[in-house]
Amino acid sequence: MLRRFRLEEPRSVPEVSELLGRYGDSAKIYAGGTELLLAMKEGLVRYERLINVKGVPGLDGVRVEDGTLCVGSLCTHRRLERDPLVCERLPALAELEHNVANVRVREAGTIGGNLCFAEPHADPGTLLVALGASMRAERAGSKREIAAESFFVDAYETGLEPDEVLTEIRIPLPQPPSGIAYLKFGYLERPSVGVAVVVRSGASRAIEDIRVAVGCAGPAPRRAPEAEEILKGKTFDEAAPLLEQAGAAAARTARAISDLHGSQEYKEHIVGVLLKRAFQKAASQC
Ligand SMILES: Cc1cc2nc3c(=O)[nH]c(=O)nc-3n(C[C@H](O)[C@H](O)[C@H](O)COP(=O)(O)OP(=O)(O)OC[C@H]3O[C@@H](n4cnc5c(N)ncnc54)[C@H](O)[C@@H]3O)c2cc1C
Repeated sequence: MLRRFRLEEPRSVPEVSELLGRYGDSAKIYAGGTELLLAMKEGLVRYERLINVKGVPGLDGVRVEDGTLCVGSLCTHRRLERDPLVCERLPALAELEHNVANVRVREAGTIGGNLCFAEPHADPGTLLVALGASMRAERAGSKREIAAESFFVDAYETGLEPDEVLTEIRIPLPQPPSGIAYLKFGYLERPSVGVAVVVRSGASRAIEDIRVAVGCAGPAPRRAPEAEEILKGKTFDEAAPLLEQAGAAAARTARAISDLHGSQEYKEHIVGVLLKRAFQKAASQC
């Protein structure tokens, strides 16, 4: 049952931050409500005040600025799967968003809510870590950027301060020739494992840069530097026989844990399978 709460209707980010500071643990930001209201209904969390950010202007835009795709935190999954700019400049994100949850959740749920809730079995964070994205956090009078790699601290825990608002996700668009792939596997509502690969090829089809991230397997999405090292500098042909070794390295850094979605060993196996497929998909775009 949902207990009574008071709804605050701020009209600016400093106002949201001021309310968070004033009411502390008894208040929480409310965006789409798809996670928050469920947790409140189930009695897992209790807040006396919800701070509705839907009336705050400027948080729902998508634009490209100096080679960076800037996504407002209030953009819904549905908007991102269909936005022409996202579809044209970062189709891998549009594809990921198309496969989040179901249409009802995608219509209401925002990317900001997804990232800030930091549920381990979520999709966007893994791709954002691989892309080297950063999160813009604002509070009254200040702004700062948090690298996606340090934003996800643990399950349900982010690098945001209690009175900070996530306002924008800033994603550097990879320079061509690049390939990007995010693949996930699961048999429950949310994914058991997700793997993202971002690769850029240089002269004579050698891998000039590669970033690999693994999500859902452990408490938070993580980069897999050991896997990257194995593949970096190799030609695509040389990389092919090393994918198994890279998959095993990615599995080691994933900090997989056994849970409802599968055992640690099962998830580590799936990381290897997905890494291979995601690499092949990304490489085919270069
Ligand atoms: C049935 C179901 C299936 C799902 N399947 C998937 C899936 O396959 N993949 C996947 O990735 N996700 C999945 N999800 C999760 C879904 O993506 C999230 O529920 C949604 O994105 C949350 O967004 P929201 O706007 O509703 O957040 P809310 O519920 O409004 O907020 C969530 C949390 O984030 C905080 N918050 C929100 N916005 C901000 C902000 N701007 N700054 C600071 N804090 C903020 C809130 O205070 C709250 O703690 C699923 C959810 C459901 C219910």
